[in-house]
Amino acid sequence: MPMTAPILIWLRRDLRLADHPLLTEAVETGAPLIPVFLHDEVVEGQGAAPRFRLGLSVESLARDLERIGSKLVLRRGGALGCLRDLVRETGARAVWWSRAYDPEARARDAEVMKGLDAEGIETRDFEGHLLFEPESVETKTGGYYKVYTPYMKATRDRDPGEPLPAPARLPAPESWPESERLEDWDMGRGMNRGGAVVAKYCVVGERAARDRLDRFIAQRVEDYAIARDRPDIEGTSDLSENLTYGEISIRTCYRAALAAREAGAEGAEHFRKELVWREFAYHLLHHTPRLISRNWRAEWDRFPWSEDANSPEATAWKRGRTGMRFVDAAMREIYATGRMHNRARMIVGSYLTKHLMTHWKIGHDWFADCLIDWDPANNALGWQWIAGSGPDAAPYFRVYNPESQLAKFDPDGAYQRAWIAEGQESPPETALDFLAAAPRSWGLSAEMPYPDPIVDAGEGRARALDAYRARD
Ligand code: FAD
Repeated sequence: MPMTAPILIWLRRDLRLADHPLLTEAVETGAPLIPVFLHDEVVEGQGAAPRFRLGLSVESLARDLERIGSKLVLRRGGALGCLRDLVRETGARAVWWSRAYDPEARARDAEVMKGLDAEGIETRDFEGHLLFEPESVETKTGGYYKVYTPYMKATRDRDPGEPLPAPARLPAPESWPESERLEDWDMGRGMNRGGAVVAKYCVVGERAARDRLDRFIAQRVEDYAIARDRPDIEGTSDLSENLTYGEISIRTCYRAALAAREAGAEGAEHFRKELVWREFAYHLLHHTPRLISRNWRAEWDRFPWSEDANSPEATAWKRGRTGMRFVDAAMREIYATGRMHNRARMIVGSYLTKHLMTHWKIGHDWFADCLIDWDPANNALGWQWIAGSGPDAAPYFRVYNPESQLAKFDPDGAYQRAWIAEGQESPPETALDFLAAAPRSWGLSAEMPYPDPIVDAGEGRARALDAYRARD
């Protein structure tokens, strides 16, 4: 008896097996399944570090799929063309994927859906990236939420359901289509610093993500509400790296938060609320895609931000040479590890947009190139929030003082010592990793003097506030 036609499972930001609604439903059909990953136009447009980290995730998922009798087929090119080819080669009757929410991915998906539908190929998109679909959360008047707290309250009592188990096996097709080789894609291109340093700090794949969550709940969640603000200690979950590629589902994390809260863990409710920030970011991005590309509040278009990504100020900021230790430690951390602590993201964001009067888009784009946890919604919301141009933003006149913030959140100086080699007799491995990662053209070394502040904290603050007042 001939086998039923296969289904192509197009995997994107859902690189896991557990709690994967698409996979669960696909297995239930009994059809042979062909998992596919495409190096398509959206991957092509990604920054260096996210694309490098994505490659590691793809590699890990391919191994996990083999363990359950399947494979990951790799193709490079425009998504619609690649999928058309695969449908023709395999006789697939359908192409399924998990839904995406950022404007670029949505445009690609709309084109794919239209193109395949026209040829009679079934297309379906599934939930799985979020707890609650963006259009399913509405204000009393039927609109979307622009402010976090009411959004959080509106979703507080909603049940996202139980996570689904990973399938024990995926039915394989009679024959597999050809796959390209991941090594040939060179996902680390663009990392002029090379991937080796950043790779040291990556924690990759579904099993590692699950371990991370379990360890966080066992060891850190209790003190999370306070420890989460300290860049000098390991007080947060670090799960953003895994959530962004879908190596773990948000529902699994959310359920773990609820269970910890039930068990009386102090910081669990705070952790749950942070997970809801991610939901809120996607809710906003879905309803206002401009969040990613333009001032959310148009009145900010008149603000005299510098838009020169290569100005001396922007360059010093990117290279961790502003003379502000909190800023420089954080900018070095992001470059060497692909990560940055949340408090530090707020400080460097405030410093760039206020003290240096530089457009948030320049910081946004640098983060999108450097972060291994780059997330289109969280990054855009974070930048517009700190710059003051976003919905529910920190008021512009709240200018963080990087010196007093450092004294408060790095009281023993451990964070700055970890990243700033200059002036230390034997700098730690982290600080040396940054120097190893930094391109030679930056001309940095541990022996050079640490720079004086390029802008005095008080003067920078006054200048920003003057410009803010002049705007009105
Ligand atoms: P935890 O404190 O353990 O929080 C758990 C999870 O909750 C995180 O993994 C994340 O998914 C979510 N979360 C926590 N805080 C926020 C927040 N403020 N906004 C949205 N979701 C949140 N986060 C990203 O995942 N990718 C980004 O590209 C990103 N860019 C940012 C840029 C700026 C300027 C700012 C201010 C924040 C940005 N954030 C981003 C949010 C936040 O800094 C990170 O999610 C957090 O530092 C990740 O560390 P963690 O996983 O240990 O977080």
